[in-house]
Amino acid sequence: MTDSDRAAFRGAAAARDLAVMLRVHPRKMATPSRTLDGPDGPRFVTGGAFHQDLKRAVDRYFLQTGRSPRANGRMWLKTAVMITWAIASYLLVLIGDFAVWQRVFLAGSLGLAMAGIGFGVMHDANHGSYAGGRRANRVLGFTLDLVGGSSYLWRHKHNVLHHTYTNVTPLDTDVSGNALLRFSPDARHHPVMRFQHLYVWALYSVYPLGWWLVDDFQRLVTRRIGANALPRPTAGDVAVLLLGKALFLGWAVVIPLTVHPAWHVLPFAAIATAVLGVTLAVTFQLAHCVDGAAFHDARAGMPVRDWATHQVTTTVDFARGNRVLGWYLGGLNFQIEHHLFPKVCHVHYPAISRIVEETCAKHGVHYTAHRSLRAALAANVRWLRTLGAGGPLSPLLAASAAE
Ligand SMILES: [Zn+2]
Repeated sequence: MTDSDRAAFRGAAAARDLAVMLRVHPRKMATPSRTLDGPDGPRFVTGGAFHQDLKRAVDRYFLQTGRSPRANGRMWLKTAVMITWAIASYLLVLIGDFAVWQRVFLAGSLGLAMAGIGFGVMHDANHGSYAGGRRANRVLGFTLDLVGGSSYLWRHKHNVLHHTYTNVTPLDTDVSGNALLRFSPDARHHPVMRFQHLYVWALYSVYPLGWWLVDDFQRLVTRRIGANALPRPTAGDVAVLLLGKALFLGWAVVIPLTVHPAWHVLPFAAIATAVLGVTLAVTFQLAHCVDGAAFHDARAGMPVRDWATHQVTTTVDFARGNRVLGWYLGGLNFQIEHHLFPKVCHVHYPAISRIVEETCAKHGVHYTAHRSLRAALAANVRWLRTLGAGGPLSPLLAASAAE
């Protein structure tokens, strides 16, 4: 094959991947300027000038560079590193002859590696942005089941509900909160929430337990995710979920309890779980629950909105210049780019973020990015304190409180 043949082949492969990429969400992107009606949710207009410009600019980047929007060699290397990191941490804490403080460190390392598999491997795979083929993405997406979750439920909860109705109450269950936590101005306030910025960390530390052992089963049985109906699962979906749970409980619970007494296992399992829970929750919070992100209440009757503008205004980037953090977080510090182009593998987000920011400026769409992790954390804590203190209350809740 000559150099020009290779260039033509790369161009054709990139163009084919691009065609797949543009099917980000067929309901949103197939036809310019049409409206979408959610089941009970807001109406989105797609294909407006802003959205078209964004797609054109990002298409141009991939065509000019000849890169595929899918995973590259660095992504495969990252996958190998994350999985090796998790297995090595697990085996060392399980059978290694170490001092207590060293085992504490290894348990924390296991929690970080499990979160890293979530950020850097399963997230892309379950969006279909990792590999070109559906089967390869499903196999890589099963890494979520292996760390205790359910790739089947995730694809509905995250890809559909969170990505379509970002920060829209009550459709985006990621910002629903509960009786103790208020993440959105559209959620009810209770007096105890005045301290939520203090106790939220303890709740993050245990939330994987509910997710692994209760929530997924409850969602499967009730066929509901929060206020949203879950489409009927196939037998294959149920089998994959149950197989994943069995494998997870096998390595995380059964094997450790056959090697050590329970009182030896519990503290280290608790540390790994807490590190995992805090890391996952904080990363999500920094992108959507900060004082620069917009929120909407579907119950108040939202006006028709431009889908791309909605994604940019409800999402915030952070620490874009921090390459180590970006590597570990799987590009989740570039969430604006992820929300606009979820079918593009995260390794490309740093390159396309400049294009996205310029296009936003051209269309007068506010693009928010915190300069550092510290600034983003401060914005998140400010937001939790503000909401915990009772404000800002959405007009709908303010009216019902006044009655
Ligand atoms: Zn996503």
